[in-house]
Amino acid sequence: MFNKEIDKLFDKDLRLYIEFFDRHDISSLRNVIDKEIRSRRLLLCFPDRLEELYQEYYFFKTINRIRIMLIFGIIVYLSFGFADYVLFPQMYQELWGIRLFVLAILLPTLFYILFSKNYRMVYWIYCFVALVAGISIVGMMFIPPPTEAQIYYAGLFLVIFFLYTLSGLPFIFSAIDSWTIAFVYFLIDLFFLHSPEKYLAANMFFVSSANILGMIGGYILEYYIRKDFLLSLKVHLDKKEVESLNRKLRYMSNHDELTGLANRRRLKEVFRQELKRAVRERIPVAVLMIDIDYFKAYNDSYGHLKGDFALKEVGRIIGRHARRPADIVSRWGGEEFVVVLSNTDEKQAYQVASAIRRDVLDKNIEHTSSPFKKLTVSIGGFSDIPDNVRTIDEFLSRADKALYRAKETGRNRVVVYNGKL
Ligand code: GH3
Ligand code: MG
Ligand code: MG
Repeated sequence: MFNKEIDKLFDKDLRLYIEFFDRHDISSLRNVIDKEIRSRRLLLCFPDRLEELYQEYYFFKTINRIRIMLIFGIIVYLSFGFADYVLFPQMYQELWGIRLFVLAILLPTLFYILFSKNYRMVYWIYCFVALVAGISIVGMMFIPPPTEAQIYYAGLFLVIFFLYTLSGLPFIFSAIDSWTIAFVYFLIDLFFLHSPEKYLAANMFFVSSANILGMIGGYILEYYIRKDFLLSLKVHLDKKEVESLNRKLRYMSNHDELTGLANRRRLKEVFRQELKRAVRERIPVAVLMIDIDYFKAYNDSYGHLKGDFALKEVGRIIGRHARRPADIVSRWGGEEFVVVLSNTDEKQAYQVASAIRRDVLDKNIEHTSSPFKKLTVSIGGFSDIPDNVRTIDEFLSRADKALYRAKETGRNRVVVYNGKL
């Protein structure tokens, strides 16, 4: 039942729905749907917004069938021209005249129905042409001698049958058409054709019965289509919710909450891939380990909240220096960050690290208990062309050593090793 097509359909319709409901409140639509499913509503109508959604859903789901059935209906209608010819060889021209007149109305409207996406117009026009075709059958009763004209009366049943089942028209349109045709037949027979009263009464009884049976069938059909719509929509919303939860979980498992940067887990994952690529292509990879200087003192002087704010700011600055698609910046933990730069040698690593250090310094974040009087970072870097022996832990521990060296030699500085050290 639930294929990609319907998903696409709902995705389109959900956009429509979003215009009605609060953008973030899918639960309100879910509530409406649950209430509808529970309510066992007998009227073929949902509360207004859901109804509009249903109408779009029904239209896109059935429009192709509607179009094919209309063409099929026209062909059947015209093929009865053959019967006209066989039954009434003396007057088939007049009968064909009526059929051609109907065809002249059908063709342009058919063209509209084949290409229009305006469902209300399509239904009304469809309804109108079916009515014209139905009434034309009543019109044909004028042409043969009254005793034989009854043959066309059977055609009314065909039209009524077609309207309630194959046409694809919503129930209400089928009912309007069928009853109108029955009524027009009654009036024309009563005032113009003057069939014996007994016949007219019997005919009306059968046409009305056909209508009532058709209505019951049409009603049941639409009732279940509507139910299917509700259930499909519910499944679709559930699916969307699971998808969005999955996305959220995936994001959470890959990112650091405070800075929004990749977390340690994600960094290792990307780093491992990057290392493999570098082995294959024999290109260098660089790792930078960045640690904020005197950050404990910063927290002590300015409080944790300001500390968090500073962390975010430093994270943003570092993030700006990961320019290549394969570069990645992560919050390694606490006030430490790790950057992996693809295809970057020692010299380039030093340049990037220096730029980061400079940018943090230039941000001028006040830090009175630091000898520099502002927030600074120390950066340890390591770059090498990895071969199969090298692991990410080796890369990281060398960058860590370099960082230690940067701290030892006074902080607010960059130390980068290369593979030979
Ligand atoms: P050094 O220059 O040697 O790096 O000194 P330091 O004070 O920066 O280093 P230390 O490792 O002693 O202190 C790190 C501090 O970072 C401790 C803690 O208060 C702070 N910190 C770690 N994580 C967070 C965090 O998520 N938010 C805030 N506000 N502070 C944090
Ligand atoms: Mg630290
Ligand atoms: Mg520190």
